[in-house]
This record gives sequence, structure tokens and C-alpha cells, in this order.
Amino acid sequence: MTALLEITSLTAGYGAAPVLHEVDLSVGEGQIVAVLGANGAGKTTLLRAISNTLPVTAGSTRFDGIDLKSVKVERMVRHGIAHVPEGRGVVTELTVEENLRLGGLWRKEKPKLDEVYELFPALANRRSHLGHQLSGGERQMLAIGRALVAKPRLLLLDEPSLGLAPKITALIMGLLRDLRDRTGLSVLLVEQNVRSALSIADEGVVLNLGRVAARQKAGTLADDADLRHAYLGF
Ligand code: ATP
Repeated sequence: MTALLEITSLTAGYGAAPVLHEVDLSVGEGQIVAVLGANGAGKTTLLRAISNTLPVTAGSTRFDGIDLKSVKVERMVRHGIAHVPEGRGVVTELTVEENLRLGGLWRKEKPKLDEVYELFPALANRRSHLGHQLSGGERQMLAIGRALVAKPRLLLLDEPSLGLAPKITALIMGLLRDLRDRTGLSVLLVEQNVRSALSIADEGVVLNLGRVAARQKAGTLADDADLRHAYLGF
């Protein structure tokens, strides 16, 4: 499989001391890769380094042959990368429809909101509701939907299950898998909810103290009791 995102020897952090150490990782076209690990392992930092919201100290981050370090954060989406950060970033004073339109602001053509409403029917029923009137699950769907309006090839998704009931988490994970199956979208999925993430991922990468401790096919990783006990806490 051709790697769409290729990360090699990535070292990055917030100050003098790096958080990530020589991380290697790749995401193929149409692949879902889950990034797992304990609190503070560096999962969020990894997504920030890829989307250039955090300076990369050393190593390379390439997307479809482009050096991402040379791409400004606000132009990342034009290159096909959409980042949905933890906490979702929905504008609570705007309606669902207005939030979705924000995702397509940079595109010349009219955004195809119907495609998002088709994917998330719950949003279609709430299109004139304000962000703060939505449930946690609906906000997460809106954040993902807004990212999709930009027609990305790669979605960087940080903890979509955070604060959601198991049923809603399962719904969102299922929708992500359907979306990948239908459109060939690639997803780098950061999750604390290991079982949910592995249920839809092709591969799992385990981070421990900012280093890659393991990379395996999702099914193999889910069955590896030693690895789960050592790094994933179950
Ligand atoms: P969690 O699931 O708890 O968010 P994580 O695996 O995503 O964990 P990160 O948020 O990437 O971990 O944090 C990795 C390390 O970087 C931690 O030691 C954390 O304290 C540190 N860190 C995170 N954000 C900052 C920041 N803005 N400034 C300085 N250090 C930070």
C-alpha cells in the first residue's frame, strides 16, 4: 500500500526537552491507523507536530510527497489534511449549518453540506440549532462533519470518544469506518478508548513516553495480552 502520510524519526516537543522521540509511522491511502497509549504518552503532540501546530525539532513529516514542515497551519487543509482537535472546537454561538460552512470557506465551489447531513442524519435535524444546544455526540459529529466539508484525504482525529456514552462512541466509530469504506479517506485516530479504536482500525501504533513501543495489525494488537497489560492498562 502506498503511504500517504510518512513520518520518519520525528522528534518534537514544547520546549527544550522533546516529548516525541524518533517516531516512525505511516498511513496508507484509505487506511485507519489508531495511535494508542497512556495519558501523556504523546498522542496529541504527535497530531500537533504533523499538522504543524507544533514545531518539529528533527525528522520528517511528508504527505503525498510534500514536506509538511513547509506548509503553514492555515494552509494544511488545502493540501488535504483536516485536524479535529480534542475538545472539538465547535463554535457554540453559531448554528450547525454555519459551523459546517466554516469548513468549506476556503473552497471556491459551494460546500456540499448534504453529504454531511446524509452521513450524520442527527445533524440534519438540528441544522438551525446553536452549537451549545447540541449533545456531546452531536458536537463531535459536527466537528468531524465540518472537517469533511473541506474534502480532506487525511483526517487527524484526536479522542473523538472523549466524554461520550459507549453507544454514541460505537455509532461514531461505525460512521468513520463506513466513510472510509465509501470514500477511501485515510484516518489517523488518537484514542484512549483502545477497544473502540481497534474495532475500526487497520493498524495500531502504541506510544510509550513519546516512543513507538509497538506497531501491529489491529486484530493482532487487540489479542496481545502482554502488550495490552504493559502499555494500555487492560
Ligand atoms: P492525553 O490523552 O492525556 O492527552 P497524550 O498521549 O495525548 O495524553 P500529550 O497531550 O501529547 O499526551 O502530552 C505529552 C506530554 O507533553 C505530557 O508530558 C504533557 O504534559 C506535555 N504537554 C502537553 N501539552 C503541553 C504544552 N502545551 N506545553 C508543555 N507541555 C505539554
